[in-house]
Amino acid sequence: MSVAGELTVRSIRKAFGGVKAVDDVSFFVNPGEMVAIIGPNGAGKSTCFNMLGGQITPDAGEIRFDGHLINGLGPSKIWRLGIGRTFQITATFPSMSVRENLQMVLLSHHRKLGSSWRPAPSYFLDQADHLLDRTGLRAQARRPCGVLSYGDLKRLDLAMALGNSPRLLLMDEPTAGMAPTERIAMMKLVRTLMESERVSILFTEHDMDVVFGHADRVIVLNRGQVIASGVPTAIREEKLVQDVYLGGGTMYGAA
Ligand code: ADP
Ligand code: MG
Repeated sequence: MSVAGELTVRSIRKAFGGVKAVDDVSFFVNPGEMVAIIGPNGAGKSTCFNMLGGQITPDAGEIRFDGHLINGLGPSKIWRLGIGRTFQITATFPSMSVRENLQMVLLSHHRKLGSSWRPAPSYFLDQADHLLDRTGLRAQARRPCGVLSYGDLKRLDLAMALGNSPRLLLMDEPTAGMAPTERIAMMKLVRTLMESERVSILFTEHDMDVVFGHADRVIVLNRGQVIASGVPTAIREEKLVQDVYLGGGTMYGAA
């Protein structure tokens, strides 16, 4: 039996040539949860994300969201079922304003995007402004995206992903490249949005302060396998996890 908005991953695998990038991985994300996937470089985090988002088809296993079997479906079908992901920053149009970029996403979400479309001030203005308010970008609404600070671009990235009204949002390293204080502000924002927009979050992150300070639950990958999962306080104490991280020295400090 499945719970509405629940993600369940059972024994997924993906090999590239002889490399078992993801090797029998199972986990779940409950509605309303913020779950972190951590692990050293090459552990298989991005490959997992790409299987959830439909960019890569698993060799074996099952991915279910909201009761639907989604492995093998393409990205747009998965996206329509309610799994979103933050875009790469390059997905924005630098000369268009922050508000227009958001309107564009909302338009495409409503599938009214025609080839001759030009920014029209009225399309989805209320929804765009709602998202700008929620992400603290209202003051930047008229500025072209090309002049935004890195932190503001990341916030826009988040607003754009929320424009598709996902129920589960995948975020691959949402705070990469940010200063420590910005990271904390970003994660607080994500948490607030999670509650106001009723979306669950699955994210990867290098900064252990961010992970242990914000995740409800942590899944640890190493060499394509889950070596531990649980609440942050339990994960911190796991000997196996400490061993894996000691080499990188990232377990207790910012990376
Ligand atoms: P992470 O995101 O945890 O750093 P990845 O999922 O990117 O790890 O990579 C897991 C393993 O799979 C690594 O050994 C990586 O070199 C390999 N890999 C990932 N993507 C590909 C690909 N497209 N082709 C070949 N090997 C890949
Ligand atoms: Mg990665």
